[in-house]
Amino acid sequence: MFDPEEIRKDFPILNREVNGKKLVYFDNAATTQKPIQVINAIRDFYMYHNANVHRGFHTLSQEASQMYEEAHEKVAKFINAYSWREIIFCSNTTEALNIVAYGWGLWNLREGDEIILTVMDHHSSMLPWRLMAKLKNAKVKYIDITNDGYLKYELLEEFITEKTRVVAFPIASNVLGTINDPRRIARLAHSVGAIVVADGAQSVPHLPTNIRELEIDFLAFSGHKMLGPTGIGVLWGRQELLESMHPFKVGGDTIKDVTLDDVVWHDLPWRFEAGTPNIAGGIGLGAAVDYLLKIGMENVREHEKALVEYTLKRFGEIEDVEYYGPRNPRDKTGVIAFNIKGLNHHTVGSALDLFGIAVRTGMHCAHPLHYRLGLKGTVRASYYIYNTLEEVDYFIEALEKIVSLRESLKSKPPTEVCTG
Ligand code: PMP
Repeated sequence: MFDPEEIRKDFPILNREVNGKKLVYFDNAATTQKPIQVINAIRDFYMYHNANVHRGFHTLSQEASQMYEEAHEKVAKFINAYSWREIIFCSNTTEALNIVAYGWGLWNLREGDEIILTVMDHHSSMLPWRLMAKLKNAKVKYIDITNDGYLKYELLEEFITEKTRVVAFPIASNVLGTINDPRRIARLAHSVGAIVVADGAQSVPHLPTNIRELEIDFLAFSGHKMLGPTGIGVLWGRQELLESMHPFKVGGDTIKDVTLDDVVWHDLPWRFEAGTPNIAGGIGLGAAVDYLLKIGMENVREHEKALVEYTLKRFGEIEDVEYYGPRNPRDKTGVIAFNIKGLNHHTVGSALDLFGIAVRTGMHCAHPLHYRLGLKGTVRASYYIYNTLEEVDYFIEALEKIVSLRESLKSKPPTEVCTG
């Protein structure tokens, strides 16, 4: 039985107060809170097993190596990868996507090649390819969105030619919540031999992921957005593609042998995990994956869908709230970006903080998407397993109060902060 009240007991931080109010944490798309099981896994590693991996025959090093390798296996199982060797641990989604751009793009793109991106991309997915395009004199094309935040798939059909080498897109948008169709994109891309790079930062933590059904070539995601610690992320790639690539970062642990004239790269995944890795982070991510598997990703999805459905219904009761992206909760993750007419997004965010409600405000590392929507920024509420319908009620109540105080809030413009 999925019970958010039971789940909440595993998250010590949810007991704290903010501005004298019980914390309501609605900033899960930025990062999630950590259950005690994850915190304990990291603590246990440092207290009883800490040593460097792959570097020694002593017991602690072997224990650490085994735990770190097992964490790769857990993540492989979580996304149903063919082998744990396809799981590369890195620092986050951003690094994972750069590994592909530098490891594949740098060595395979030629002048005149084309890269297809989308206007809803996070900068971490968009910018590595933009840089690569500049370096290689390749051309970038962007798939636009409909007014309600769906990708215009017909544009992809139009853009795909024999020149297309890369198609990169988010499986779920971090602003609109839109869940895209990886298979549809992958089939079109593969019809011309392009590689398909999916940003899973907002999908893997929230939707069941079966890599074998998605038909993509690479998938990137971050541990900290799925109950794990910061500083650990994952790149999944097809084994044959990964094996054909050069590492992005090189040095210790990436090689089997080095002479003054030659280098033999290590087996997967070590070839891509240069230097001493984030061992405790990997083990913490393994514990996070155990936790999510125990809950069941279908349940995670259904819970978030119910929260979104309820929020959108209650939004209808508030005067002058405007939200962006699909109207149908079936097509959305638990992310809702909105504005209150006449109020700056940062003003709304600061006011919500006074109620103890944590949301993110700004452009959420998706400036081109905001420009496309004609917006200077949005307020983003994003849900996870420990959020409840009662919290949504409290959020709506807070928004109603903010709307009623709109005139006085208007006179206090916020200081602009860095919006990522
Ligand atoms: N892509 C998307 C869709 C995201 O939401 C984020 C995080 N905001 C990232 C990439 C980057 O993740 P990280 O900061 O963990 O590298």
